Amino acid sequence: MTAKGAVGLLIRAMSIELESIAFHEGQYRPLRECNVNISTHALQYGTMVFGGMRGYFNAEHGRLYIFRLRDHLERLTKSARIMQMKPPLSVEEMQEVAIELARRNQARQNIYFRPFIYKSALQLSPRLHDVQDSFAMYVIPLDDYLDTTRGLRVAVSSWRRIDENIIPTRAKASGGYINSALAKSEAVQNGNDEAIFLDMRGFVSEGSAENLFLVRDGVLITPHVASAVLEGITRRTIIELARARNIPVAERDVARSELYIADELFLCGTGAQVAWVAEVDRRVVGNGEMGPITQKLRADFLSIVRGTNPEFQHWLTGI
Ligand code: PMP
Repeated sequence: MTAKGAVGLLIRAMSIELESIAFHEGQYRPLRECNVNISTHALQYGTMVFGGMRGYFNAEHGRLYIFRLRDHLERLTKSARIMQMKPPLSVEEMQEVAIELARRNQARQNIYFRPFIYKSALQLSPRLHDVQDSFAMYVIPLDDYLDTTRGLRVAVSSWRRIDENIIPTRAKASGGYINSALAKSEAVQNGNDEAIFLDMRGFVSEGSAENLFLVRDGVLITPHVASAVLEGITRRTIIELARARNIPVAERDVARSELYIADELFLCGTGAQVAWVAEVDRRVVGNGEMGPITQKLRADFLSIVRGTNPEFQHWLTGI
């Protein structure tokens, strides 16, 4: 590609986002007009809580399906409660905004919604109380966040997962993502795809932006919610799906060395979807192929989110 071609591509990719319609300060307007002042509290102190949900475009149906919209926005409201924020919009109102953004952007591809509540006052003191909160949401096109055409190579991070009593991990708070960014960069710069956090006790927690599951002797195992994990909507979905398919599930402490002897290992999240792991700390997982339980749950998940499984239609908002 010529240098001019590369620049053209970059501008096109950027303009898709900046010309898209976002919701900010109570209005729908182009993303390029949605700006904040440099002294905004959230920018200075990371006092923002966010969500992230996907809309899957089904070309055959000519419809976009948003996956577990209400559950995502309820979690956002709970994150806000932890951070002493008053959500400016109700869950129902935020649902309306997501639907309206999908309509206004005429989404005919897979997209990702980023709703967030942030401390929008121009305020110097790092505190939670008596600082005004605002709500905003934007959308971007998004296919795979991690390459799921092959098995991932992951490594246990030298960074520990933030402890509940340092930054509450149940709040999806932007400040806490410094922890994720440190681990992700370390992993990628060392030639891996993703990092695995241990919690402060030394038990397995999660990835930098994904929950983790392993399979041992036919049992699907995931670190329980007290292992400093984010209570992922996809995690909950996988547990519900496994139970519906009569796969035994255990939520419990997971020791690091269990990763090395697991039959199967996968990460899951809104971005990652169901991404299987082929190698952890240079040890091949199982026989190095995607295992049967992962295959089954992944196929199930992908058919549900695309609206081709009537059994779980109640998880979808069709537009
Ligand atoms: N853990 C962390 C730290 C995350 O950022 C995410 C992504 N939101 C997840 C887990 C997965 O959560 P969900 O399935 O709700 O996207």
